[in-house]
Amino acid sequence: MRNQTKHFINGEWVESTGSDTIDVINPATEEVMGTISSGTEEDLDKAVKAARAVFPTFSKSSKEQRIEWLQKIAEGYKARKEELIEVMTDELGAPLSVSEEVHYPAGLGHFKQAARSLKDFSFIEDRGRHTLIKDSIGVSGLITPWNFPTNQAATKIASAIAAGSPVVLKPASKTPFAAMILAEIIDEAGLPAGAFNLVNGTGSVIGNGISSHPDIDFVSFTGSGGVGEKIMQNGAETIKKVALELGGKSPIVVLEDADVKEAAKTALSNIMTNTGQVCSAGTRVLIPQSMKEEFEKTIVAMLPDFPVGDPRKEGIATGPLVSEDQWETVQSYIEKGEKEATLLAGGTGKPEGLEKGYYARPTIFTDVSQDAVIAQEEIFGPVTTIFTYEDLDQAIEMANDTIYGLAGYIVGKDPDAIRHVATNIRAGRIKINDAKTDFNGPFGGYKQSGIGREWGDFGIEEYLEVKSVHGLPSS
Ligand code: NDP
Repeated sequence: MRNQTKHFINGEWVESTGSDTIDVINPATEEVMGTISSGTEEDLDKAVKAARAVFPTFSKSSKEQRIEWLQKIAEGYKARKEELIEVMTDELGAPLSVSEEVHYPAGLGHFKQAARSLKDFSFIEDRGRHTLIKDSIGVSGLITPWNFPTNQAATKIASAIAAGSPVVLKPASKTPFAAMILAEIIDEAGLPAGAFNLVNGTGSVIGNGISSHPDIDFVSFTGSGGVGEKIMQNGAETIKKVALELGGKSPIVVLEDADVKEAAKTALSNIMTNTGQVCSAGTRVLIPQSMKEEFEKTIVAMLPDFPVGDPRKEGIATGPLVSEDQWETVQSYIEKGEKEATLLAGGTGKPEGLEKGYYARPTIFTDVSQDAVIAQEEIFGPVTTIFTYEDLDQAIEMANDTIYGLAGYIVGKDPDAIRHVATNIRAGRIKINDAKTDFNGPFGGYKQSGIGREWGDFGIEEYLEVKSVHGLPSS
């Protein structure tokens, strides 16, 4: 049991000013794995004051110093590898292999990338008739979701440190423990007190408190569209800058010359990795009409390659959903899908032999119409939908027929077709075949997938204000 009821404020682990706690549930066992404090507005206020107090010095720290802090954090992160992997498996339900191969390197990648990006970053630029100065934005409030406990927190924290912006982090109360390990790592890296603060608690108290706090200058949020909207409304009252990384309903465009097995594998790994709880997951598979029969046969036959089960067991690809609520949400979408499309595999209920734990059946729908609920809304579970197209222009039109624009995927060989599709999908990130992730590539969405970009140099820019100085004497 992890009973970690303290917040990290002004360089110290401190008791909450309230006595309420939140139980953290292991989604594979449905048992309480630990407890955190349900922080109060007073706790948040203390953290914001600490961040505000250090702002004048932290924002003037040198680039070299910030690089050193980021490198030390990366080293500390590596030293806690085993613990981070175990914690993410227990709080999120990610199989050990996914915690090790997806979650662990994602968090590390952001700290290393921020240090790299900073090396070439200019905080002052001569632009001919004016000089551009980039200043830390101020105190930043970070609100993170549960689906990538280290990745989501690390990208925001790393960019903020690189920009010299002190932060107050509120991790998701479903998965707070990986973020608390991050806090210990950051503490050991020697940042000045107040530069990094962590306050645990609910979205309604601490999250809401961050977005409406008059002394917070910038809010970076990742999570659902509904909460994103609320954050913008709250932020508007004090004209806060707000960055939002919200959901998606991303297309996978399978080209005519694609290897059908590769296409099926891409489609399945998009919904099976992290149990489909991935904002950028490709959940609409667009295949040429002529490939329909073969693709459907291949994807169903491939399902056993992604075994669902106990995340601590060897060989498991997909664990449970994060919570009972998330399980219910996914079930209701599968029920809707059964009414509006053809069920090819899966369905409602739990997979055989997995009655305990929030496990869902991997589900594939075909003959889905563009206006179906399951074609338009983010499900955030192991559910995919198959559509057919006649020609590439129709595929692009279908790919863009969504309120979202976070990501897009292309499987195929023809370079001209790949370029045509990649340049015409209205989304912030396109992945072609098995291209590797570049931590310097900006991450964020078009349309209702969000506002702003994270990762690498674009991520750092989010935590900066720009000042144009006209007539600056040369030094
Ligand atoms: P939320 O958007 O509710 O949670 C994300 C974070 O926001 C959590 O830290 C949460 O706190 C906090 N929060 C909740 N309410 C408020 C508020 N009023 N003001 C400020 N912060 C708040 O996501 P859910 O967990 O409810 O997931 C629901 C759906 O959201 C998923 O099914 C999925 O579609 C989408 N989602 C998208 C993600 C993405 O990566 N873009 C990530 C997660 C979910 P707490 O939970 O601790 O109370």
